[in-house]
Amino acid sequence: MKKTISFIIAFIITLSSFTQDLQRPKLVVGIVIDQMRWDYLYRYYDRYATNGGFKRLLSQGFSCENTMIPYTPSLTACGHTSIYTGSVPAITGITDNIWWDKEQNRSVYCTEDNSVKSIGSTDAAGQMSPRNLLVTTICDELRLATNFRSKVIGIALKDRGAILPAGHSADAAYWYDNATGDWITSSYYMKELPKWVKNFNEQKLVDKYFQQGWNTLYPANTYVQSDEQNKPYTSKPLGAAFPYDLKKFTGKNYDIIDVTPYGNTLTVEFAKAAIVYGELGVDDYTDFLTISFSSPDYIGHTFGPNSIEEEDNYLRLDKELGDLLDFLDTKVGKDQYTLFLAADHGVSHVPGFLKEHNIPTGNFDMTAAANAMNNFMNSKYGISNIVVGSFNYYQFTLNYQAIDSAKLNADEIKKDLIGYLLKQPGVAKAFAPDKLLEIPLNARIKDMFINGYYPKRCGDIQVILDPQWLPGFSNGGTTHGMWNPYDAHIPLLWYGWGIKQGKLNRETYMTDIAPTVAALLHIQMPSGCIGKVIPEVMK
Ligand code: ZN
Ligand code: ZN
Repeated sequence: MKKTISFIIAFIITLSSFTQDLQRPKLVVGIVIDQMRWDYLYRYYDRYATNGGFKRLLSQGFSCENTMIPYTPSLTACGHTSIYTGSVPAITGITDNIWWDKEQNRSVYCTEDNSVKSIGSTDAAGQMSPRNLLVTTICDELRLATNFRSKVIGIALKDRGAILPAGHSADAAYWYDNATGDWITSSYYMKELPKWVKNFNEQKLVDKYFQQGWNTLYPANTYVQSDEQNKPYTSKPLGAAFPYDLKKFTGKNYDIIDVTPYGNTLTVEFAKAAIVYGELGVDDYTDFLTISFSSPDYIGHTFGPNSIEEEDNYLRLDKELGDLLDFLDTKVGKDQYTLFLAADHGVSHVPGFLKEHNIPTGNFDMTAAANAMNNFMNSKYGISNIVVGSFNYYQFTLNYQAIDSAKLNADEIKKDLIGYLLKQPGVAKAFAPDKLLEIPLNARIKDMFINGYYPKRCGDIQVILDPQWLPGFSNGGTTHGMWNPYDAHIPLLWYGWGIKQGKLNRETYMTDIAPTVAALLHIQMPSGCIGKVIPEVMK
C-alpha cells in the first residue's frame, strides 16, 4: 500500500513537471573581452574587488578553466563568430578580419557592405552588415525559435564585435564611429537611429572622459604584476607615461578613447541604455544582448601583457563589470538573466620584453617576405607580381592570372616559394593549405589549420612561425593570431539563471559556448555548429 502511494506521488510529480510552462531566462547577456587571456583571471586575482565582476563570476558562477580556440587564425572577427555560431572559419567563411577574396580578386573586410548606408554618420564607418557570415548565430536561432518575438541587440566599439555576434536577423547592432565619437549603425538594421541613441550621443561622454585624463587607479608602485613604465618596446599614442593628460584630444581625436579604459566605461553606459530603452528582459520572450569590450585589445596591442596600462585596465574593467552586474540585478532581476563571459583570443608578450628575459622570440615581417618572394620569382621566371600579398595573417596569396598568362606551373611555384620560406629565420613550417593532410604536423595543430581553411577566402601558402615569433612588430607592441596557448586559451565564465556554481578542468572549446546556450534555452543550435554542449555548467 505504502509503495503504491509513493508510486502515485512520484507519478503526479513527474506529470506536473511536464505540464509546467517552459522555463527560460528573461535575458541572455553574452560578454566578450577582446584579447583577454585566461590567465588574467588569476594574474590580477588578488586585486580584483569582492563586489567587482571577475570574483563574483568565479565564486558564484561556473568557470570552464581550459577552454581552447579550435582553429587558426586566432583573430577578432573569427573569435566573435565562433563564440556565437559554435563553428569554425572553415564553415562560417569568416577567415580573418580582412581576406583576399578569390572570386572578386580583391581584399574584403569581414563586415563591409557597400549596398547599405551609414546611419548616424556621414562617413563610411556605418557601411557594414553580417552578409559575409555564411551561418546563423545563436541570436538568430533565438529569434527563429520565438517567431522573432525575442529582441536581439549587439554592442561594441568595433563594428565586427557588434555585428557578427548579433547575427543576420538582429533588431540592431551599434558600434563606435572613431571620427565623431558617436554610436552608429547601418541601414541593414534601420532607417534612423532610435531617439535614445541620439540622446546618448548628444551627451558627448567621450569629451567628458578626456577631461578626466587617465591615471592609475592605485599608486603606481603597487602594480607589482607589471614592468616599470615607458619601456622602449611599447607604442606610445597617449604620451610617455602615467598620468596621461587626455585634454588635448577633446573635440577631435575620438579614436584615442579606444586605447584607454574609458572605452569600457562608454560601452557599459551604452549597454545600460540599450537594456532600459531597448526594453530588454521585460516580457515573456527571452532577449539577447551581446556586448564586446574592444578597448582591452587596443590597450593590449599597444602596451603588452606586462605593462601597468594592462594591469590598470583589468582592475578598472573588473569594477565596470561589477557595476553592470549590479545594474542587471536591479533592472532584470537577480537569477532572471543568464550571462557568459569569454574572449575572442589571447595575445603574446611583447618581443622586446621577452628578449630582455632571454625567452626566444623574433619578428617575421610578412610584407618584406612577400617582396623578397617576388624578387626571387622575378629572378627565376622574369615575372615580378606572383605573390599578391599577405592579406590573411600568416598566409600568402598567389596571382593566378599572372601565373596562367605566363603559362607557368602553379604547383612548381608553390614548391619554390615554400622552399624559400623554410630557409627563413623564425619559420617553423610552410605549406600549401590544400596539401595540409600530407604535411608532417602535430595532430592538434593540423586540426586547427583545417578548421581555419575556407578555400575561397584563404591564401595559398601558410606559414607557421616558431613560438613567440610575431609578424612584424619590431616598432613596439604585440599581437595574436597563432595556434599557441597564449593566443588560444580563453576564459569562459557562466553566471545566473540555469547555471551551477563550480569549476571544470576538462578541456572545452570556444565552439561549445553556442550549443550550451542552445541547450539552456531549449532552442536549435546554429546552422554551422560543430561544438558540444557542456552539461556540467547547467543546473
Ligand atoms: Zn580581438
Ligand atoms: Zn587584436
